Amino acid sequence: MNFIETRGNDGRRPSSVSFSQAILGPMSSFGGIYVPEALPALGVSFLRAHLDSDYKTLARAVLAAFELDIDQAVIDRALDLYDGFDDPAHPVPVVRVRDDLFVAELYHGPTRAFKDMALQPFGLILSSLAQERDEHYLILAATSGDTGPATLETFKGRANVKVACLYPDGGTSDVQRLQMVTEDAANLKVIGIHGDFDDAQSALKSLLSSDSFQAALRERHTHLSAANSVNFGRIIFQQIYHIHSYLELVRQGAIAIGDKVYLNVPSGNFGNALGGYYAMKMGLPVEKILISSNSNNVLTGLIRTGVYDMRGRKVIATSSPAMDILKSSNVERVLFDLFGAQRTRELMAELDENRVYRLTGEELASLQAVFAADYAEDAEVEVYIGETFRNHGYLMDPHTATCFKAHVSCRDKPLPGILYSTAEWTKFSPTIAHALTGETDSQDIDALKSISAAANTPIPPMIEALFDRPVAQSTVIDKQDIEREVLAFI
Ligand SMILES: *Cc1c(COP(=O)(O)O)cnc(C)c1O
Repeated sequence: MNFIETRGNDGRRPSSVSFSQAILGPMSSFGGIYVPEALPALGVSFLRAHLDSDYKTLARAVLAAFELDIDQAVIDRALDLYDGFDDPAHPVPVVRVRDDLFVAELYHGPTRAFKDMALQPFGLILSSLAQERDEHYLILAATSGDTGPATLETFKGRANVKVACLYPDGGTSDVQRLQMVTEDAANLKVIGIHGDFDDAQSALKSLLSSDSFQAALRERHTHLSAANSVNFGRIIFQQIYHIHSYLELVRQGAIAIGDKVYLNVPSGNFGNALGGYYAMKMGLPVEKILISSNSNNVLTGLIRTGVYDMRGRKVIATSSPAMDILKSSNVERVLFDLFGAQRTRELMAELDENRVYRLTGEELASLQAVFAADYAEDAEVEVYIGETFRNHGYLMDPHTATCFKAHVSCRDKPLPGILYSTAEWTKFSPTIAHALTGETDSQDIDALKSISAAANTPIPPMIEALFDRPVAQSTVIDKQDIEREVLAFI
């Protein structure tokens, strides 16, 4: 299958590219991104055929339907990385928390956040392609906490790929910082920036547009790629777990094949939600996809009113930092699917120029046929965490908790909801400790210990070990020194 461009073709780039081209160079004409030319139809017969499949078998079948230009042996090795999750037979447990509320836990990988679901196999595939072509790639990442650890972990020691990861010094949790600064492979560079996440991100952007930087990369025969979810190489793996979770509900006797469910996604850059949208388009019986946000509720506004409005808004720091985003990249892929390339280009240009775009009434209706949305503020999130633990014995993180609001406010039919849990409680422990016991910890280690005691659950070994691992990455610099630092590294 080939991939085409969300904003149309500029006449200089190829009008369609293969999967491997789309992941090695993810940016397309007019600042657009790549989407599949068509989606395979899987339908109810596919679901029936995979009722008893394990996760990897299901994944192989979904990927086969996309007819990717990747060797089967490489795909198999990539999927084998799910064997490194807590329970190799069940990398994504689906837990019934109460009658109609199921939580699909996407965080059982090495860095305890759902980024591993896609980044683990993606890293192996990108490195294999680079080796096959005898090319060298640099991945630049700016992270507020979860993308960084998962990107470093997947590329650690992999050939032909280097990663430079920028994070705001003091702007991540202790666990997230330790996950980054204790990574010691020669192909990884972690750089703390004096400033906040916006500073790290804008530093990355100016680096990408710097002529001297581009020239230096050419001199070193190094190509740039990206590991964020504009890269379709991540999205391809994010459709599978939606289908898997649906089949889990069938296996648990909660629904019959063909019955509809709600998918409920804590959303930031909309990659997770887009995976659900594509799964639905391929035939998964979904009533609606519920988009859950925190106080950075631009998506709630878009889906309720048809206006994407960033005017006068600044990112608000919340207890669910992976969703502290105003410009949500993957919405563009939905716009393309619903309204076509011309209109997508128009809307994205409006957003760039005026920080706002408006859908027509008809366009809004087609968006609302698929999506509904709500958001939860930090205080509500803490109540959901505390109540769900006390009443149902279930421990969850703040990102997951935002979904509990939409589960009540957005379902207009009494159908089960699958809520996606995107991080383990260990990654945002001070918020959870406060919700459980009222204590205010400034250090993650204190919060981890008290949650572990209160919930009678062990701290997972890879989190506990972090606090004893030597720091291998100690660079903390000012924004203007980044270019020199990255070039010295490569
Ligand atoms: C990345 C992330 C999200 C947001 O996912 P998107 O696919 O960007 O919408 C939510 N929760 C956690 C913990 C994350 O790491």
